[in-house]
Amino acid sequence: MVPLIERAVQTHQLTEDELLFLLQSPQADGPLFAAADRVRRHYVGDEVHLRALIEFSNICPNQCLYCGLRAPNTRLARYRLTPQQIVALAQKAVQYGYKTVVLQGGEDPFFTVEVWTPILQQIKALGLVITLSLGERPSEDYRALKQAGADRYLLRIETTDKALYEKYNPGMCFENRLRCLRDLKALEYETGTGVLVGLPGQTLRSLARDILYFKELDADMVGLGPFIPNPDTPLQDAPAPQLAPALKVMALTRLLLPDINIPATTAMETVAPDGRIQALQSGANVVMPNITEGEARLNYALYPGKACAGESPTRCRGCLENKLRAIGRSVSQGSGWHTRKL
Ligand code: SAH
Ligand code: SF4
Repeated sequence: MVPLIERAVQTHQLTEDELLFLLQSPQADGPLFAAADRVRRHYVGDEVHLRALIEFSNICPNQCLYCGLRAPNTRLARYRLTPQQIVALAQKAVQYGYKTVVLQGGEDPFFTVEVWTPILQQIKALGLVITLSLGERPSEDYRALKQAGADRYLLRIETTDKALYEKYNPGMCFENRLRCLRDLKALEYETGTGVLVGLPGQTLRSLARDILYFKELDADMVGLGPFIPNPDTPLQDAPAPQLAPALKVMALTRLLLPDINIPATTAMETVAPDGRIQALQSGANVVMPNITEGEARLNYALYPGKACAGESPTRCRGCLENKLRAIGRSVSQGSGWHTRKL
């Protein structure tokens, strides 16, 4: 076990069967987390990059079975920030000291390329790096959004098990998800992907394949988290989420893609009160604090009990900096590029 992990630390290679073996072995947890922590320190250092998350709309025409924003969920109060509100939040991000904003939302049809273009231009003029997480779009949209100023894009593959993907994302097509991610790489976005860990029916072998897919895509960022059953969705009765399997997939991802950006995700913090800190000590080097305000912050309800949903953006930042200091990590003053840092 330990020799296998040590070999991966040196070579950044593991086969599907080796990944499966490590995922199956509870004794691997401790050594794996420690190894991923060492690899993280060696390749990307002790600095933590903070990205300010703006949740611009919870309106979505899709029906992903796991997600509270799915169109058939009538129990959710829907909102859409105006372009002015989005730019105003980006201005606040600058004041709070952030270098990157992440614009994430449902696939709200209001937000066409024409609507986004002036928003992105205004945000760019503030000197911010822009990450988009707008879901699946045609290639031309990705190209136009890049031209308007977007630098990074997050689109989780969610699972590389095609049958499972299409079961949980009715009306969506796995090949199109792959196409989107290929397009984003080809357009030279810093491309982030990731998966949900613990979906009913998901096997450890499929998680092993997910990790190999991250490498095959040459992902610049991988964000993953536990699947958290949402009472307002068809998956409401799924088993309670666990942190350890998600941490394990994350640690293995760090071993195989040693220099990428890996966030400690909000879903991890939701499942365990110190989930993000555990993640930062098991391979992660990024945190995405939420700077959305008011009702919108409460209604971006992908899953229940979202960590820090009731907090204010300023308190979040202070709280996080204290926690980082306590584990000997500092907040990066740079933009945290993956592809352009050398
Ligand atoms: N609409 C965009 C972005 C918003 S959803 C998209 O789908 O890409 C952002 C992420 O939230 C999804 O990629 C999914 O992995 C995660 N998510 C949705 N429901 C969740 C749940 N119940 N538990 C944990 N994560 C969830
Ligand atoms: Fe919409 Fe994204 Fe939720 Fe699917 S996961 S319903 S695309 S917000």
